[in-house]
Amino acid sequence: MNFDNSYMQLGESFYQQIRPTPVSQPKLLLWNQPLADTLGMAESVQQDNHLLAQYFSGNKLPEGAESIALAYAGHQFGHFNPQLGDGRAHLLGEIIDTQNVRRDIQLKGSGPTHFSRQGDGRCALAPALREYIMSEAMHALGVPTTRSLAVVASGETVYRERPQPGAIVTRVASSHIRVGTFQYFAARNNMSALEALVDYSIQRHFAHTDLRDENKILRFMQQVMQRQINLMVEWMRIGFIHGVMNTDNTAISGETIDFGPCAMLGVYHPGTVYSSIDRQGRYAFGNQPLIAQWNMARLAEALLPLIDRDQQKALKQIEPLVHDFSHQFEQAYFAMLSKKAGLTDANAESIEMVQHLLTAMQTLELDYTQTFNRLTDSLKDESIASALQQQLGDWYQQWRTKLEQTDDNLEHQSLLMRQYNPLVIPRNHHMEAVLSECIDTGSMQAAEQFLQVLRSPYSPTQYTAQYQDLPADNDRYYQTFCGT
Ligand code: AMP
Ligand code: MG
Repeated sequence: MNFDNSYMQLGESFYQQIRPTPVSQPKLLLWNQPLADTLGMAESVQQDNHLLAQYFSGNKLPEGAESIALAYAGHQFGHFNPQLGDGRAHLLGEIIDTQNVRRDIQLKGSGPTHFSRQGDGRCALAPALREYIMSEAMHALGVPTTRSLAVVASGETVYRERPQPGAIVTRVASSHIRVGTFQYFAARNNMSALEALVDYSIQRHFAHTDLRDENKILRFMQQVMQRQINLMVEWMRIGFIHGVMNTDNTAISGETIDFGPCAMLGVYHPGTVYSSIDRQGRYAFGNQPLIAQWNMARLAEALLPLIDRDQQKALKQIEPLVHDFSHQFEQAYFAMLSKKAGLTDANAESIEMVQHLLTAMQTLELDYTQTFNRLTDSLKDESIASALQQQLGDWYQQWRTKLEQTDDNLEHQSLLMRQYNPLVIPRNHHMEAVLSECIDTGSMQAAEQFLQVLRSPYSPTQYTAQYQDLPADNDRYYQTFCGT
């Protein structure tokens, strides 16, 4: 592996240099060969399971790795904590991949650090597997996300509500810079570090922005926001509920990060919450764009002193930008929803049409993914069309008429809908069944088969149909927990 570690050059206030704590019996459970290939990992290494288990448990550092735990702060459920940081993760370093993109390679569950507070620095096997499966599913769905390279069992027990097998998951990200990283330095009034972080972030993520541009902070803010808007639109497209959108879990790259209590939306309802700790519904499905905007306001706050020494003047410049989030989001959101419904342009009429559809889905308690799939299929299948006509009444006929106005053989609309509507998503009941089976049997076969299906969300595989069904109770009692 060719490491090229640039984050370390930012200086010691950005991290703690610390090695992972070795584990007793590392065993490689999942290995992402296609991802390893894009990282340019040698085949000889990839074929050596023993060596991979040593590397990706943290027992042995690969040559060129310089293990660090990153410092960051964050608003958790609205409350500011000036010091969080990697309490159970080690960044091994960065690799420039075969597409010339710089990628962080990070172990999670690899032992305590300076930032661990009360925690044991470890990760249980179920959340490690969940992160691996979910992030790979998101990637295949076309949603910006961190990815997973490996899951290694530690051979040790971790103690949560009950004893569980431990594991280490390797995360690959285009960086681990979070809104909370900026907050960390802003809270300490460390302006030189804050500015260095902005410059580093621009070089890493928005390289076309000139560092000498006097408006670079505003440009940076605008670009981070753009990526968040895109991310929210993508989450809403596929029905992803993150569950813990704290500012320390908001990557400025615009990638989905941290899959602790995440879940998928079944029956359409904007108020859907599955996380057991989210009692107020702060991170409910339909609230996510609003929270993303709130998180962007926290980033803007942290950047204020870099815009102008006079806080009022700085606010005047950045506030309109953050306010515009909702407008920009709405536009992108309705453009996406229109396409999900096969309508190419999002004009007032198509927006009203998709809004009515969402209301109908909510009142009739229809499954989000399945309804869009049935609408897609109904263009080619008369029996599905008449069933939908029964279910959705006049709306269905109006929708068909509108589609036929643009193109009467419906070929184009059909293709568009297929692109925007996955056949299969990592449904909660399947995820839970797969995790239980893997943990009970010790075999990863169930995870591998699930992954095979999830890696092809827009075209059916041999097993796809097995994972499309809805949960018996519509996930009414489903709950997720923070992956600690
Ligand atoms: P998360 O909810 O996973 O985003 O984590 C929030 C904070 O808690 C981060 O600073 C984590 O590093 C820390 N943390 C979570 N779990 C553990 C653990 N088992 N040991 C130490 N720190 C942890
Ligand atoms: Mg986190």
